[in-house]
Amino acid sequence: MKHIYLDHAASTPIHPEVAETMLKVMREQLGNASSVHYFGREAKRLVNGARDTIAARIGCRPDELVFTGGGTESDNLALFGTASACKADGRHIITTAIEHHAVLHSCERLEKDGFEVTYLPVDRYGQVNPDQVREAIRPDTILISVMYGNNEIGTIQPIAEIGAIARERGIVFHVDAVQALGSLPISCRDLPVDLMSFSSHKINGPQGVGALYVRKDLQLEPIQYGGLQERKRRAGTENMAGIAGFAKAVELAEAERETRTADDRLWIQELLSALEQRITREAFHLNGHPTDRLPHIVNLSFPEVDSETMLMNLDMEGIAASSGSACTSGSLEPSHVLEAMHLPASFLRSAIRFSVGLGNTRKEISETAEKIGTILERLRRRK
Ligand SMILES: *Cc1c(COP(=O)(O)O)cnc(C)c1O
Repeated sequence: MKHIYLDHAASTPIHPEVAETMLKVMREQLGNASSVHYFGREAKRLVNGARDTIAARIGCRPDELVFTGGGTESDNLALFGTASACKADGRHIITTAIEHHAVLHSCERLEKDGFEVTYLPVDRYGQVNPDQVREAIRPDTILISVMYGNNEIGTIQPIAEIGAIARERGIVFHVDAVQALGSLPISCRDLPVDLMSFSSHKINGPQGVGALYVRKDLQLEPIQYGGLQERKRRAGTENMAGIAGFAKAVELAEAERETRTADDRLWIQELLSALEQRITREAFHLNGHPTDRLPHIVNLSFPEVDSETMLMNLDMEGIAASSGSACTSGSLEPSHVLEAMHLPASFLRSAIRFSVGLGNTRKEISETAEKIGTILERLRRRK
């Protein structure tokens, strides 16, 4: 059976040029980037070359980038690193109810350590109101963390407005931009943001590598101790093949951003119109903001069928989708994101996320709509 991959928000296939770049690094004899000999210097050159490439594409200085083991580690470093560095100034953190678990579970850990966290609500489209951010600020607020584009519903947050409020009050502002990278133009220097998380495997790079942008002169305590790598902000020998692959992935994603996002937008639009024809407009509902959204993610509820049943049936037809985040699938708990949007119970129970990307074709999209129609008919007959 031919498989159709519509789960790019969970992970993306590695771009062939990225794989080439990584293979070359792995085949070459390279030393440890901390060594003083020739091999070490070559390794250091490679890591710093990758850093220059990424910095140029996302509008920051190379020394403002810390390589990490992925988006989760970047979020952890941002939150725990700021909490430890700023705890003398206060112990209050503001975030939102719809963050990725890498942020939410870190906040829960910080609450156990005596920090207080305000989880801001969202509207029915999953958007945070900047006025509510302003109202939540206290004299002891040290950090605001709001994601750029949501991984379950695609809704984009008003980052520039929230950042302006944070800056006015002198509060550190962290943004999880893992899903936004490659989809939205990103210039760290032009945004009022102090910390920004990125992950390689969401943009057709390898898994297990990412970066945290740390604005120059920002106080950040490390969360990992050992060598002096990454200007003492992240100890440990660099994942050279991963970092080189990540840089190549960023370079390609930025060079091709307009064409890739135009394709993504087209596939989502075609999926929606094919569904309208195949199963009628009443049989599904779009969750998330109708226009302020990432181009590659769409979240749909099919109220007649619960998410697990739909996912299993889709999988049997060779279609890979997801019920919200990969981290919540497998558990039957409704998504914390959709819950925060106060959707009707029938929508919560039946939500499916489709996320498109490199390699998807028009034929795959029309086949998906067709198969969803077949599945719904089959399940209706059984009732
Ligand atoms: C995938 C994802 C992460 C985690 O990144 P990993 O590299 O998988 O650890 C964090 N935030 C968002 C929004 C994501 O989509």
